[in-house]
Amino acid sequence: MTNPQPFGIMNDMKATQKNPALDAFLSMITGKDRTDTVASAQCATCDGEAVAFRDALSEREYQISGMCQSCQDEVFGK
Ligand SMILES: [Zn+2]
Repeated sequence: MTNPQPFGIMNDMKATQKNPALDAFLSMITGKDRTDTVASAQCATCDGEAVAFRDALSEREYQISGMCQSCQDEVFGK
């Protein structure tokens, strides 16, 4: 990404497209397509809304894993 948006601008969220193997794996365990999940601002893990993130790192993690902030907190610890 050559033109990073300031944190807080969440329109046009897109899932990263770099790892098809990870996508396939996540689709298998969640039963959902990750890119669709991220595009609709939903959490791949808890089915909740994923619209608010603590920081840019958490937002980035969402684009990779599809997990909302609270699920990230559960998985990674705070
Ligand atoms: Zn969640």
